[in-house]
Amino acid sequence: MHAIFEILKIARCLPRFEIVMFQLFVVGFVFEVGYQTSIAQDESSLDQQSEQSESDLPLSKRWEDYLLSPITDGDRKWALDAMTEAERIELTEVLKKTEFQLDPIAAQVYIKRICEMGPRISGSESMAVQQAALIRHFGELGYSVARQSFDVPHPETRVNTTLTNLIVQLHPERKLRILICCHYDTRPFADRDPVNPKSLLPGANDGASGVAFLMMLAPHLKELGPRLGIDLVFFDAEELIYVRERDKLFLGSTHFAEQYVRSPPDHRYRAGVLVDMIADRTLELYHEKNSLKYAGPLTKQIWLKAQKLGIKDFVPKPKHEVRDDHLPLNEIAKIPTTDLIDFDYPSMTAKESYWHTAKDTVDKCSPLSMAKVGVVLVEWAKDYVK
Ligand SMILES: [Zn+2]
Repeated sequence: MHAIFEILKIARCLPRFEIVMFQLFVVGFVFEVGYQTSIAQDESSLDQQSEQSESDLPLSKRWEDYLLSPITDGDRKWALDAMTEAERIELTEVLKKTEFQLDPIAAQVYIKRICEMGPRISGSESMAVQQAALIRHFGELGYSVARQSFDVPHPETRVNTTLTNLIVQLHPERKLRILICCHYDTRPFADRDPVNPKSLLPGANDGASGVAFLMMLAPHLKELGPRLGIDLVFFDAEELIYVRERDKLFLGSTHFAEQYVRSPPDHRYRAGVLVDMIADRTLELYHEKNSLKYAGPLTKQIWLKAQKLGIKDFVPKPKHEVRDDHLPLNEIAKIPTTDLIDFDYPSMTAKESYWHTAKDTVDKCSPLSMAKVGVVLVEWAKDYVK
């Protein structure tokens, strides 16, 4: 109980939208059974968020509807007000670098909504809501969405747990394909939090940002040339880690890579791009060392595109060797895959890191960073095949 009082104490110091989020965490904390965090049971919180409360609908359906509800003027004002004037001007300039009408403000709102639902731990109810919302979102855009499900013993309880990768196919008939992917689970605990390593992880940048980013890209990807097919893949259980030394990372991407080898589809992926932690307000994207090792030409091609576009936050120098979902794709599936990850969160010079801490919240994320990564990726993909 002591931990709950600590959380409530912290909550009193936070702005309103963070208080709502904290309420959800507290509720999640109280109702947590066997480490399975359920979605927030506090209906009044949801009612505050949703203009039309459909109280006869199950809570999970109401969260799904809320996640996908139209982006309002109020939402846009919230996102723009959180930016500095200089950031807003830069955002306008960045978006002019592509003909595709990317909407990073909507992506920022999606991060906020996803986080309000609480952590999306693999196998949890909030993860199931997120899956249902994504299937609906991409289905409404006219894309086919496949669930790639498989069972694992839960690392903590050993209870059989179903994990699910989502595979969204654009132009499934096209044989020349690339893969753009992210993980959509959150780590069970903020285990690097200096105050409370057992607190729940909001996962705004580490989890929600990849999801929101792919939601932002999706409406434009079918226009990227007449020959290119794209798969968007959401990996489950990137970090279903309760005990670092014991539990395995990358369960979803490993299963995806193994299936690609075991039951080969009738297409081959020419390239893969993994996005992780790309919404950090202080964007610093370096060549990740494993990406250089396995997918050097691809990595350099993307950074070269950024240079040509004048997006200087892509720094064409190696830094950080990161173990991430691109490893199974490169090592098992042999798909040359690069990892776009800003591992200095918030920045190289900062005294503290928000990574895997309770401070990984939406206010640390920026539409400007998602715009920069988005512009580079669509312009790279557009030129990938002519
Ligand atoms: Zn993580």
